Amino acid sequence: MFLTRFSLVLSIVPAIYMLIAGVAWTDHIHRGTELDGIVIFLVVMVLPCLCAVVRLIEHPRLLYWSDLLVFATTILLMVATRGGSAWVLAGIPLQGLCALFRKAIQMPNGIVLLTGPTGSGKTTTLYTVINYLKRPGLNISTVEDPIEYNIRGVNQTQVNLATGMTFARSLRTLLRQDPDIIMVGEMRDQETAEIAIRASLTGHLVLSTLHTNDAASAVTRMVDMGVEPYLVASSVTMIVAQRLVRRICERCKVEDEISDDVRKGIGLGPGTKVYKGLGCSACGRTGYHGRTGVFEVLPVTEDVRRLINEKAYADAMKDQAMREGLVTLRDDALAKLVAGVTSLEEVMREVCVTA
Ligand SMILES: [Zn+2]
Repeated sequence: MFLTRFSLVLSIVPAIYMLIAGVAWTDHIHRGTELDGIVIFLVVMVLPCLCAVVRLIEHPRLLYWSDLLVFATTILLMVATRGGSAWVLAGIPLQGLCALFRKAIQMPNGIVLLTGPTGSGKTTTLYTVINYLKRPGLNISTVEDPIEYNIRGVNQTQVNLATGMTFARSLRTLLRQDPDIIMVGEMRDQETAEIAIRASLTGHLVLSTLHTNDAASAVTRMVDMGVEPYLVASSVTMIVAQRLVRRICERCKVEDEISDDVRKGIGLGPGTKVYKGLGCSACGRTGYHGRTGVFEVLPVTEDVRRLINEKAYADAMKDQAMREGLVTLRDDALAKLVAGVTSLEEVMREVCVTA
């Protein structure tokens, strides 16, 4: 797999196919002029295989290309639009996360973990957090694989296995510069996790991601990696699980006809309305326009910390957190369903809510 990075403006949408194909195969850097005040940044990853999917996120004009193109190469395409100083990445404005989360990322130390499967927007949320936190005089440094967006004013380091610059080694080198905030792209192994923990215990705020389905499982994953539970308990302050769901197009939104059995099955009251998009010219006949995040925000409270120390199962931690008011992925997804933000189809697909 190779990675190429370029920024361009797409004045003619059909040209994107040729452009992506050309860039992907030739590894050239393309730059274009501005269109409608929006510069589009693209990251293209190419993996030769039998079939392919193109994913385009964010730009409304391009949405109908989403998951449409199939040819002899996999191209994963991530798009972020940048306007002024504010970033909107994959439709996740920071205010979409609750006050508890904002509090955790403003602490001077501790570890804040983002969890979810590949493509759930974890890294995007981390970039949004970094952009929210950055200010002159604050040293924010990252170790990533790959660096997906360049953020001005942030020291970003690319992991390079060929030269021995692993996550752990890069992180150790980085710590000698004593940054205030460290983003570790992913906690892949015990060594990386333990260095990150040491950093957080010595006065650094650490932001990182893990591949787990829900927030509580992040703790058991770290312990499974070989990290001592007391180290996890004393360093992790907050765990956020997330998924991305498509937003219903406002132009063609209608009530979705579902049976009372389905309503009951997913835990909605009788007569509760849900919505869907019929498909129109504004949304390229998909019925969706943009995406938003669904979140489960788990603060590591005294009781949760005690359970981590006792090596409790993830379910026990989740139950305790729910007693303390945890809004689960399922709860948040259903709230966004009832609010008409997303559809039942999306909720069932992305959050595995079954009727
Ligand atoms: Zn529409």
